[in-house]
Amino acid sequence: MIEHRANSANGSRRSFLKGLGVAAAASATKVAAAPAISRNSAHVVVIGAGAFGAWTALTLLEQGYKVTLVDAYGPGNPRATSSGETRQIRHAYGASDHFTRSTIRAIKLWRAREQEWGQKLLYPGIRFAMQKAWTPRIEAQKALFDKYGLKYEIIDAQEIAHRYPQINPEGLVGAFVENEASAMIAAHAAILRIADEFQKKGGKIVLGRAMPGTASGRKMDMVTLDGGKETLTADSFVFACGPWLPKMFPQLLASKIKVTRCDVVYFGSPAGDKRFMWPNFPQLNGEFSTYPSFPFGGGVKVIPVGGGDMDVDDAERIVAPDQVRRAREYIAKRVPALADMPITKDEVCQFDTAAGGEFIIDAHPDYDNVWIAGGSSAHGFKHGPVIGEYLAARVTSGEADPGFTKAFALASHTDVTAGYGMSGG
Ligand SMILES: Cc1cc2nc3c(=O)[nH]c(=O)nc-3n(C[C@H](O)[C@H](O)[C@H](O)COP(=O)(O)OP(=O)(O)OC[C@H]3O[C@@H](n4cnc5c(N)ncnc54)[C@H](O)[C@@H]3O)c2cc1C
Repeated sequence: MIEHRANSANGSRRSFLKGLGVAAAASATKVAAAPAISRNSAHVVVIGAGAFGAWTALTLLEQGYKVTLVDAYGPGNPRATSSGETRQIRHAYGASDHFTRSTIRAIKLWRAREQEWGQKLLYPGIRFAMQKAWTPRIEAQKALFDKYGLKYEIIDAQEIAHRYPQINPEGLVGAFVENEASAMIAAHAAILRIADEFQKKGGKIVLGRAMPGTASGRKMDMVTLDGGKETLTADSFVFACGPWLPKMFPQLLASKIKVTRCDVVYFGSPAGDKRFMWPNFPQLNGEFSTYPSFPFGGGVKVIPVGGGDMDVDDAERIVAPDQVRRAREYIAKRVPALADMPITKDEVCQFDTAAGGEFIIDAHPDYDNVWIAGGSSAHGFKHGPVIGEYLAARVTSGEADPGFTKAFALASHTDVTAGYGMSGG
């Protein structure tokens, strides 16, 4: 149930955040377009209750701002990119220092929230990045793991089969192994929990489709809800609408974010057979991502990537027969014991991909009080709490991580309609 309550600042929450170092990152520098807004009086409207918007709303609320979170279909709705059963945390990001750094911080923040909320959200495990050939990306990855003191191994194909006889390593040279540095997140449960905590702490959730409203010069005054039936005024607006952003700001974003369909298939395992359940089965990436079965979950999850363009509002969320066939062919080869097992669950989701897999998080060029956040390129969920901190800093003070600001700048994003380059998960 979505409640409507008045906002209130919470001192103990502020101490909690201070303990985490949330208040002031040492490396923060001033970036453009953040008019001063003050705690306890300023009102921020966040549009979109997915991983980016929900974390941003909660972070701003805990810092003492009045926050309204608007979602067209509600937090955790099945159209949202964040609504899958699970999402993965991995540190392996090739040569990308800022995403590796973000993951290290994100895991700390996720763990702190598990403790604070008394709810298990993380399922730590071994992750295999399966390799058909050794590439320069592995060398870059090793260098970053060494820099940040993260444990890893490089193993050959025989060793994969030795450790996990359930896996057939045919066609592989080996794997880059993250040892206990990665995890699965109970994603759907996490979004519901964040929304719940946001309301308990005084945040207001509104169900409605928001669109940009009138402006006074470079200041947006309001958003309209549901075609103008209602309006919401605020000091600042954050449009964290993920794959809906190209529809909302077509001139600005239609060429910078490509939205494609992604089918997800879950395979059942034989009754009583625990070989495919967490923690007995690793996370597999590099081909179709494959994740263990969870006590709360639908089975062994396989993501046969390669869907076409997608309308996020109107698409039927029924898995395509051709993608079931591709998933089954893959599982029969890589995990042969599951070849004839029934499909126990499916999901249809979407990727909103931006150039180079970099997110788009920036001020809207036409306004001084509007931010956009999306283009999460199939790997944004894990970074949610860090993006929440980052966006809160952009909105309130302009003091924010310069590495993120450079990487996520709208101006640095090229046209993705012709192609893009980074794998997700
Ligand atoms: C199959 C799959 C597997 C993935 N695996 C991983 C993984 O292992 N690890 C990882 O980190 N990431 C993964 N990702 C990516 C991750 O899920 C996304 O990056 C992340 O969830 C994006 O969150 P978001 O908040 O940007 O968007 P969304 O979750 O899509 O949220 C946007 C919200 O905005 C709302 N909205 C839109 N328009 C309006 C409007 N006009 N008014 C009001 N509300 C509106 C929508 O209802 C929605 O709730 C995966 C994605 C998919 C599809």
